[in-house]
Amino acid sequence: MKTIQHFINGAAAAGEGSRTVPTFNPASGAQTGTLSLASSADVRSAVEAAKAAFPGWAETTPLRRARILNKFLAIVEERIEEMAALISSEHGKVISDAKGEIQRGMEVVEFATAAPQLLKGEFTENVGTAVDSWSMRQPLGVVAGITPFNFPAMVPMWMFPVALACGNTFVLKPSERDPSAALLIAQWLKEAGLPDGVFNVVQGDKEAVDALLTDPDVEAVSFVGSTPIARYIYTTATANDKRCQALGGAKNHMIVMPDADMDQAADALMGAGFGSAGERCMAISVAVPVGDETADRLIEKLKPRIAALKVGAGADPEADMGPVVTAAAKEKIEGYITSGVEEGADLIVDGRGLSVEGYENGYFVGATLFDKVTPDMKIYKEEIFGPVLSIARARSYDEAAGWINDHEFGNGTAIFTRDGDAAREFAHKIKVGMVGINVPIPVPMAFHSFGGWKASLFGDHHMHGPEGVRFYTRMKTITSRWPKGIRSGAEFSMPTMK
Ligand code: NAD
Repeated sequence: MKTIQHFINGAAAAGEGSRTVPTFNPASGAQTGTLSLASSADVRSAVEAAKAAFPGWAETTPLRRARILNKFLAIVEERIEEMAALISSEHGKVISDAKGEIQRGMEVVEFATAAPQLLKGEFTENVGTAVDSWSMRQPLGVVAGITPFNFPAMVPMWMFPVALACGNTFVLKPSERDPSAALLIAQWLKEAGLPDGVFNVVQGDKEAVDALLTDPDVEAVSFVGSTPIARYIYTTATANDKRCQALGGAKNHMIVMPDADMDQAADALMGAGFGSAGERCMAISVAVPVGDETADRLIEKLKPRIAALKVGAGADPEADMGPVVTAAAKEKIEGYITSGVEEGADLIVDGRGLSVEGYENGYFVGATLFDKVTPDMKIYKEEIFGPVLSIARARSYDEAAGWINDHEFGNGTAIFTRDGDAAREFAHKIKVGMVGINVPIPVPMAFHSFGGWKASLFGDHHMHGPEGVRFYTRMKTITSRWPKGIRSGAEFSMPTMK
């Protein structure tokens, strides 16, 4: 069994904190490691290392910073199997899905390697007679990332490549449920030539998070996780004068219009509802067919597909879907299924009590399908974060769109239709941050930015892409005049350009 530690100032560190928690393999249910939880003193030493590394890293030219990220990219590409296997063993997702998340993370690194271009400023000659002005973006200092269990490589990679490319130094606090991918990232960044202290990992829980949120040397906090914690992170970080972007939970709806290609819609729902066992913030958890006939046709297409879905260990190449992350998550998801039945939804496929041969102690929940789910039900209102797909039958497009707009969350959504007018209306009016048109999981590419609306994001900036560059830099605007004009004497009224 392994001991999982921190990574501070370029080396593995045991830390002085005495608390530990076990890590598990979700497929077998067996304990695989013991994770050291950072004390606030451990967090302080990581922040101090990052603070000491900041001046040198900020002065390193963007081109040189980009070269190190390029080397890191090559290492990840070469060793993607190793990282995917590690993720699968702690998270449970199937290997092909783990590779997919690493690939999406690498795309952000690729974006960040354009640092010299991304950090170009703006210049205006002659803002006044013989006066020039330019704006440039400078790094913030030490920035922190606090990440969820569901994407142990990709979500950190939404953050640190852009932060580092912009000249900041970084302290990452990964999820305590799958903490090892962060350490591989730290080692590979070091191998790529990143100076010690520029990227640090502290393992931990609330104690470590609170230490980061209140440390006077942490300038900004990026967070991804559930909404109650996102709200707490945002209010605490901003109360401590930090910049903060905190991405929260989701309940993503997919409208299926009567004219949609029903096979395409059913295939899309299978992947978006059950991929990664539904543990994705962009998973579709509510399908909204418009009209009873559409709903009946859709369900007839879904039933055989769900029956054919293979649930197995993440390492099984035949498996479409692995276990959920912990025994507690399995219990919670099964509790939601029971509550849906009690509230009167039609349970068409029941994933409770699933046992996978050879993995009888694993945390498996089978694909579950509910019909006739209504907006007053708990399974509609709350994020289940498991392989549970609800069908909520709408009488009209307006009713379907109204449900989405009225929902607490606004992360992602999609519409399946052949009608360009309906699709355009949807994109224009819907109150959600990321919208798909015949695309079920509209995750923006690395060179756009990722983020939801309403209770799915607290703060002003989305992640990665241009918004990431803005978040991790502050603007400075210089106005310059050379001697000839300065001899004109003092001016006491508000300066206006002549
Ligand atoms: P979580 O909120 O439990 O944990 C996220 C992070 O916060 C972890 O690092 C954890 O250690 C820390 N944390 C947990 N409780 C804390 C507390 N009381 N005080 C301080 N820190 C605390 O989330 P999770 O279960 O790891 O991840 C699943 C959630 O993340 C889902 O709600 C999902 O929708 C969301 N998510 C959102 C996005 C997005 O982009 N909006 C992306 C991925 C995941």
